[in-house]
Amino acid sequence: MSDSVADDEKSYPLHDHHLQYIADLRVSEQIFATRFVQSCSTSGCSARCCREGVLVDIAHRDRVLAEASLIIQHMEPQQEHDPSRWFEPHDEPDLDYPSGRAVNTNIVNGTCVFLDSRRLCVLHSAEAASPGLKPFYCRAYPVAIDHGCVTLDVDWCPEDTQCCQPVDSGEQSALDVYEPELAHLLGDSGVRELRRVAEIRRQQPPAPDLPAPTPYARDRREG
Ligand code: SF4
Repeated sequence: MSDSVADDEKSYPLHDHHLQYIADLRVSEQIFATRFVQSCSTSGCSARCCREGVLVDIAHRDRVLAEASLIIQHMEPQQEHDPSRWFEPHDEPDLDYPSGRAVNTNIVNGTCVFLDSRRLCVLHSAEAASPGLKPFYCRAYPVAIDHGCVTLDVDWCPEDTQCCQPVDSGEQSALDVYEPELAHLLGDSGVRELRRVAEIRRQQPPAPDLPAPTPYARDRREG
């Protein structure tokens, strides 16, 4: 591991994770270098990050559609109850997803079709009856995978330092704030490997300054 880290200043290989469909998974320097305020927590999320919806694996889209009757039970009257309007009509190739294809949820009234007026996700609400219904990247947010590299998908809510917006200097790292999300993404062994990488990184000379992370996709998260 230490030799591989030395070979790449901006990302590091990962081996002990459960995303077997990504052959050469890496983790971005941003995961280790980005800082957050002491009070930062996903429990402070305002769900503004849901405004562009989320990309989901087409197999998960099919699961959601198959469970439409359950989901509708959790929707408010004014929400879109027609499953044919829950996803965009066209999917696209994306190797960060198990099937290799992804599709975005539809946007209704300026936010994801699954977000209700209380800023709660109905897929999340329906999980009591159907565990795992909330999209994978929604549960992982703001941790994401971009072209096979674990990174942060921040800057959707530039004022929300209480949940995901980085600061120039802060008491916490992404491993401190988002350990449950990283464990969801990579498994417990993946988090342990991240901590080993973090320790190796700490023992190396400082890397040159990196640009701040920027949004890279139409949202992959879940509040
Ligand atoms: S958590 Fe994900 S699926 Fe749920 S409302 Fe937000 S973007 Fe949509």
